[in-house]
Amino acid sequence: MLAVCAFAVLIAGCGLKEKYAGEWKDACIANLNEIQTAKQHWALEKRKTEKDTPFGTDLYGTAGYVKKEPVCPAGGTYSINAVGQKATCSIVSHNQ
Ligand SMILES: [Zn+2]
Repeated sequence: MLAVCAFAVLIAGCGLKEKYAGEWKDACIANLNEIQTAKQHWALEKRKTEKDTPFGTDLYGTAGYVKKEPVCPAGGTYSINAVGQKATCSIVSHNQ
């Protein structure tokens, strides 16, 4: 990424793109935290263990723990994963 920026004709444009990427990442991490909280509520209420994995339909929706299914602002796809694991984004750099 740095090399691409160095050779870019529009340096300012490149910096702007990185700024957006940072905001997308922050928004994505907030989404992942929201999913994680929903998973913990689900596990508590449904008496599930850390090895159980909820479906999207268990967590999202007007009757669910998150009203609207979170979407990665950069176009990544979320994996809910088991309760004992973190929810992840398909964009590797978003998983922190
Ligand atoms: Zn993401």
